[in-house]
Amino acid sequence: MKPPRFGYCAPGMLDEALALLEQHGEDAKILAGGQSLIPLLNMRLAGPAYIIDINHISELNYIEAEEGYLAVGATVRHRQVERSSLVKEKHPLLVEVVQHIGHMQIRNRGTIVGSIAHADPAAELPALLTCLVGEVVAQSIHGERVIKAGEFFTGYLSTSLNPEEMLTEVRFPWITPQSGWAFMELARRSGDYALVGAVAVLTPTLDDHCMSAHVAYLGISGNPVRAREVEDSIIGTTLDEQTLEHAAEIARTFVSDDMEDVHATVDYRRALTAEITKRVVRAAWARRKAMK
Ligand SMILES: Cc1cc2nc3c(=O)[nH]c(=O)nc-3n(C[C@H](O)[C@H](O)[C@H](O)COP(=O)(O)OP(=O)(O)OC[C@H]3O[C@@H](n4cnc5c(N)ncnc54)[C@H](O)[C@@H]3O)c2cc1C
Repeated sequence: MKPPRFGYCAPGMLDEALALLEQHGEDAKILAGGQSLIPLLNMRLAGPAYIIDINHISELNYIEAEEGYLAVGATVRHRQVERSSLVKEKHPLLVEVVQHIGHMQIRNRGTIVGSIAHADPAAELPALLTCLVGEVVAQSIHGERVIKAGEFFTGYLSTSLNPEEMLTEVRFPWITPQSGWAFMELARRSGDYALVGAVAVLTPTLDDHCMSAHVAYLGISGNPVRAREVEDSIIGTTLDEQTLEHAAEIARTFVSDDMEDVHATVDYRRALTAEITKRVVRAAWARRKAMK
């Protein structure tokens, strides 16, 4: 199928893009890498009157180490992050997660910020941002607001972004050097969207108990999910097998009753969620460094 007719603009400056968004509001869509938007247009599941192509706005193409977080601008492709020596050195979990997104061809075009803006609950990056309690920067001609991940994702393909706003940056908080981290997903074939995925970041105490835990999931609900009860069941323990079994049982309860589709029943997703919880937590804990 071919997309419905639309007006096309490709501004070279952020201010121009924001002015166009102010003018067209709900009738406009931002085009970044096009890896989700173009299929939606072709299938006629989206029909914006205007497309604002941000690919020529060079001021949005940056990856920067800031105090407290890694900042990624709105036109940075997945592949740029995957190959960046800065990210490899300072945020290896982000590289690990990005490598699970689709295929290399998709990652050559798709953007980090586009994946966040698209807000697919089966996508990897929204779950990572939720796990790390990261933030996005939204801009309009009226100014800028910084939105925490927990307030940004509001449901299936939905966010708290206003029609006249666009995302200019995503912020991934640093992980302390002592923390162990892991990302895993279960998919039928490599490159497919995952049936279920999980990310964990665990920090040990001086006497090697779990001091803090962040555990989040993709593919188990209409939103990326941070599972506080799973985290609470791990904190203060030494992560023995009994603790992992208990955490896995709790994790099952986070799978929404409506997560049934042609790929998996709810029961199957619950079983996968329990199993992946044990695996991801075990792997994250194994990667921790002893506190000195
Ligand atoms: C075969 C295939 C396999 C895939 N597999 C995966 C996968 O395993 N995991 C995964 O996460 N994704 C997967 N995807 C989806 C895709 O990779 C991402 O959703 C995509 O890369 C999003 O980034 P983009 O730059 O292409 O966004 P676009 O397609 O350009 O835009 C997506 C949406 O976000 C909005 N948007 C983009 N940028 C901004 C911005 N700066 N401000 C506001 N709104 C914005 C657009 O208006 C649109 O609504 C797959 C896609 C294909 C075609």
